[in-house]
Amino acid sequence: MLSPFRTTWFEVSELEPGVHLVSEPGHVNSWLIQGSKSALLFDTGLGVANIREVAEEITPQKLLVVNSHYHFDHSGGNRYFEEFAIHRIGADLVARPSPPELARGYMEYTKRLLAAWGPYRQADDLYFHLLTAERMIRQLPTGFDPADYRIVPTVPTRLLEDGDVLDLGDRKLKVLHTPGHSPDCICLLDEANGLLFGGDTINTGPIYAQLADSNLEQFAQSTARLADTASDFRRVFVCHFLRFDEPSSLVNEIAAGFRALLAGEAFIRDNVDCLNYPVREACFEHFSIFVPAGEPTKL
Ligand SMILES: [Zn+2]
Ligand SMILES: [Zn+2]
Repeated sequence: MLSPFRTTWFEVSELEPGVHLVSEPGHVNSWLIQGSKSALLFDTGLGVANIREVAEEITPQKLLVVNSHYHFDHSGGNRYFEEFAIHRIGADLVARPSPPELARGYMEYTKRLLAAWGPYRQADDLYFHLLTAERMIRQLPTGFDPADYRIVPTVPTRLLEDGDVLDLGDRKLKVLHTPGHSPDCICLLDEANGLLFGGDTINTGPIYAQLADSNLEQFAQSTARLADTASDFRRVFVCHFLRFDEPSSLVNEIAAGFRALLAGEAFIRDNVDCLNYPVREACFEHFSIFVPAGEPTKL
């Protein structure tokens, strides 16, 4: 008999005072960051369930909603808010319609993820005991029909630039423009508390550089820039996979990984991404990097 865990779609967990992980486990991690005057929600998730209700349960503070970049898994809940911010380059991208096959493709991925999850969880229950509530992948919410999943275009009310400071009172977050995964990617740096919110620039599984709007050279430059400032933070919080809380050394490893890949020195194998596009995967100890094997993946 599997042990009981919460089975709501989101899992909330406070990882530092005032920093909550708002996870859609196995899919995407959003972050609720509180200051003395206001709070910031970094990403709005898939839009499968209402993230605004969860954020407002955590804090009654005024919320500034910021997308790490325009991709649907980070902006899907924008529609629950009247206002949100994104990097200037993402303004048109988040407002344009997505092809219906993207939503369909992601729901097919969700089906495969759940099929793999069953035996994984059973083995953990019997042998390994690694899984915690934040790592428990959930069935889609009751009443949610995957056939109805839509990616809804939204129009930002505020545009961000590199170097902008988002002032939450006693906490300040600096916007770092880190193009590469997509042209509008940002990270947020909370220097006083030593925290980096890595968006899709820093990840613990495959790092997606195989997309039609990815740029490998820019990605290498952005991660090198982050590595140069790695002494400014001690923890990095990331948006995908079940390792979401990593030491700053991961940023140095990823920057070195991009360097090795560009120099032709990485171990590479064939794989597929979440939408089943064939990719080449450069493998490293704590992460990997996907690059296109043929046609790049369209998001
Ligand atoms: Zn992305
Ligand atoms: Zn993502």
